[in-house]
Amino acid sequence: MGQYVAPIRDMQFVLHELLKVEDELKTLPNYSEIDADIINQVLEEGGKFTAEVLFPLNHSGDREGCHYDGATKTVTTPKGFKEAYKQYVDGGWAALACDPEYGGQGLPVVMNNSFYEMLNSANQAWTMYPGLSHGAYECLKEHGTDDQKKTYLPKLVSGEWTGTMCLTEPHCGTDLGMLRSKALPQADGSWLITGNKIFISAGEHDMSENILHLVLARVPDAPEGSKGISLFLVPKFLPNADGGIGERNPITCGAIEEKMGIHGNSTCQMNLDGAKGWIIGQPNKGLNAMFVFMNAARLGVGMQSLGLTEVAYQNAVTYAKDRIQMRSLTGPKNPEKPADPIIVHPDVRRMLLTGRAYAEGARAFTSYVALQIDRELHHPDEDVRKEAADEVALLTPIVKAFITDNAWIATSEAMQVYGGHGYISEWGMEQYVRDARINLIYEGTNTIQALDLLGRKILGDNGAKLRKFGEKIKAFVEENGLDENLSEFITPLGDLGDKVTKLTMEIGMKAFQNADEVGAAAVPYLRVVGHLVYSYFFAQMAKIALEKQDSSDTFYKTKLATARFYFARLQPETATLIRQARSGAANLMALDADLF
Ligand SMILES: Cc1cc2nc3c(=O)[nH]c(=O)nc-3n(C[C@H](O)[C@H](O)[C@H](O)COP(=O)(O)OP(=O)(O)OC[C@H]3O[C@@H](n4cnc5c(N)ncnc54)[C@H](O)[C@@H]3O)c2cc1C
Repeated sequence: MGQYVAPIRDMQFVLHELLKVEDELKTLPNYSEIDADIINQVLEEGGKFTAEVLFPLNHSGDREGCHYDGATKTVTTPKGFKEAYKQYVDGGWAALACDPEYGGQGLPVVMNNSFYEMLNSANQAWTMYPGLSHGAYECLKEHGTDDQKKTYLPKLVSGEWTGTMCLTEPHCGTDLGMLRSKALPQADGSWLITGNKIFISAGEHDMSENILHLVLARVPDAPEGSKGISLFLVPKFLPNADGGIGERNPITCGAIEEKMGIHGNSTCQMNLDGAKGWIIGQPNKGLNAMFVFMNAARLGVGMQSLGLTEVAYQNAVTYAKDRIQMRSLTGPKNPEKPADPIIVHPDVRRMLLTGRAYAEGARAFTSYVALQIDRELHHPDEDVRKEAADEVALLTPIVKAFITDNAWIATSEAMQVYGGHGYISEWGMEQYVRDARINLIYEGTNTIQALDLLGRKILGDNGAKLRKFGEKIKAFVEENGLDENLSEFITPLGDLGDKVTKLTMEIGMKAFQNADEVGAAAVPYLRVVGHLVYSYFFAQMAKIALEKQDSSDTFYKTKLATARFYFARLQPETATLIRQARSGAANLMALDADLF
């Protein structure tokens, strides 16, 4: 069913030529030994594993879905998933970017990031099982006790055990302050937890011998709202004294959801009937600890959508070269055949280039963010670590929302390239559209990401983080502003930067009068800032490509054409978005709710 070839050449361009990761990693003591050969080898091997082992299970996993057995309360994943997971664990892939202290391979996040793109292109539903483990690892590593780390981290790192995040309850998703699950303290220092969680991804499955649930609940006398939430580690099987599998804990799956996409991933209703757990961090500070998991997951969701954009694009290109329909408007390009391949038609090219540009923009952007995470974690200079952390905080909601919105557009365009054949399931294209849709919803809907960006990350610190990032853009514009060859990229970049500054100030002023102004502007605002970020990366990529466009390697010509397409066809939507963001709250809030 279709094809997937990891885009290693573009990954190498981003890592080696755009971001110069080897030089950057040399400034981080943990990674000073990492060279281009190691990076390229991981990319090659990751490309093989994902294309050969996971991709063949994508369509069959979607068709078959997960099976729930009510008698045993167990879930069986689609045929082949379990065996592929064993190969993943045996190959050491789970441990790639984890700390050697817990059995990890100690490679940088920026390398793991490229591997995650491949995993998600090959099979998003499958990738969610190990993907959630990684968030659990990050959270426990930062907030767990020494004992918890010793007991659980090696199991998560090896992949023997997987993790989940149990936040959502039937009456609360976005508003976690309303959650009702309860935790009662026990004499031995553990807690007994009772409650019902819904929509828990990978909550029950047959791929690993144990599952570590990270559960939000309230301790007795907790304050109301989000200030009264605590975080607990609740294993499916309690660990033995020797660290192996012990007694079954009463946290069980009551059902799995029927849903639009990601059929290969189990979405579980989880019942906790006095399940034994251990608190992570301090009572009532659970949301703070869980944010480590949530931030990792938000970046992960962006990677899911980059993966889908890439694979949908690749398949649409193959189809567009093969499918013959109608003649080119400028005369036959394939006179010996009854019609030309559809790739001759300008609008088919627009659809393909939309996918290509959104994939390449997202690849550059997420690799940059991943490198900033490496600096945040390992740079010897505290100021650099802080600056990197601020940038990651600013950019995380953009990774989550902008990339997932774009993937919804790009997978739909890729499906459209197939005409009616895209809509039927035989070719696998409609699966990409269905799988892409959830990414706009979970991990905080894209509206919530937009509010986080504009309200908390930008207006909340008087624009300091945005200004700092803007200084990088300004420096690039100033450095290259006089180069006429680059003006087609630099002018719209500089122009958009100025507009974002004005727009931010304008919304900030209005917000003083009426807080609804933030809610009314946030979604188009995030998209405008997303385009500013992509413009910055496309301008840098175009600069490199221009310098090398005469090389025999056609890669650079292609990169340049993609950057030109981006600035000509995608970035201009910012004009409309800015008008929408400026239009204010009144056009949304004028109607009384009962007039809808
Ligand atoms: C397939 C799937 C897998 C999932 N996996 C997990 C998981 O592993 N763990 C987990 O805990 N949860 C999981 N979820 C739950 C998911 O994170 C929630 O569905 C999501 O956070 C939204 O919550 P909700 O569905 O209750 O919607 P609601 O919170 O009811 O929101 C409904 C609508 O109102 C909007 N809205 C709400 N508040 C505001 C506001 N202040 N301003 C503007 N708009 C607002 C929302 O954006 C949304 O459009 C999963 C869900 C699905 C469908």
